Amino acid sequence: MTWRVGTVVALNDETATARTITLKVPDWPGHVAGQHVDVRLTASDGYSAARSYSIASAPNSEGRVEITVERLPSGEVSPYLTQVVAVSDRLELRGPIGGWFVWHAQQTEPIQLIAGGSGIVPLMAMIRSRASAGSAVGFRLLYSVREPSAILYRDELRARSDQERSLTVTYAYTRTTPKDWPRPPGRIDAALVANTSWPSKLSPTCYVCGPTPFVESASGLLSDFGNSPDKIRTERFGPTGDRK
Ligand SMILES: Cc1cc2nc3c(=O)[nH]c(=O)nc-3n(C[C@H](O)[C@H](O)[C@H](O)COP(=O)(O)OP(=O)(O)OC[C@H]3O[C@@H](n4cnc5c(N)ncnc54)[C@H](O)[C@@H]3O)c2cc1C
Repeated sequence: MTWRVGTVVALNDETATARTITLKVPDWPGHVAGQHVDVRLTASDGYSAARSYSIASAPNSEGRVEITVERLPSGEVSPYLTQVVAVSDRLELRGPIGGWFVWHAQQTEPIQLIAGGSGIVPLMAMIRSRASAGSAVGFRLLYSVREPSAILYRDELRARSDQERSLTVTYAYTRTTPKDWPRPPGRIDAALVANTSWPSKLSPTCYVCGPTPFVESASGLLSDFGNSPDKIRTERFGPTGDRK
């Protein structure tokens, strides 16, 4: 797959540690919600490092690709993308990549989304894609975050779920909850999945994305509730290591 050059046209801080980068890619072939790109940085001495980032934007015909990067303080690539990259910089990317962890606007079954941390990014592309395609398919999102200030796309999620009753959003906080929150901080568990997700008899397609242990546990719970393995699609945001 060829590397393309995208120009940074906008930057938006989503939280204190996460930034959305909007790229304009002239020869972009188009994408489907759920796919990702590889971004490659090359230093002046020729050393390069590539990392995968999910596409946050809905499919569009303008060659616009948005990614949202969460900064890992000791990371090699994410600090650069969240702190150094400036508007009009050029970034190398290749993609779109992925054919299984995708949602097509033609799908009519209920959709269960489960995100851990920055795992919300490809699921947000699905939510945006649903809206831009005018689909009224039922979407339920269960979003696990450390604390309220770590929520990505908070205002947009609120606006979309306020506008559309067929989109519901449930937050689960692992460390700090908002004041008077009914559930103590903790990981997603069986009771929460049972109370907030589609019954398996409706045969929802489930998309689970986040750090590897989170994905293992959430997909295990979905399976315990009778969702068949071929209806549970997963994307693991583990370290991608150096890839040239
Ligand atoms: C398909 C796919 C899609 C992804 N999409 C996104 C996305 O939309 N947004 C996003 O922010 N990230 C995403 N990632 C993760 C991303 O590719 C990088 O792993 C992440 O940005 C860290 O890179 P780094 O160079 O800053 O850290 P590195 O230098 O690679 O690692 C620094 C330290 O952090 C650990 N580490 C690396 N990655 C992670 C991680 N994801 N979680 C916890 N610890 C880690 C390493 O083991 C190491 O100890 C995705 C990964 C995959 C495989």
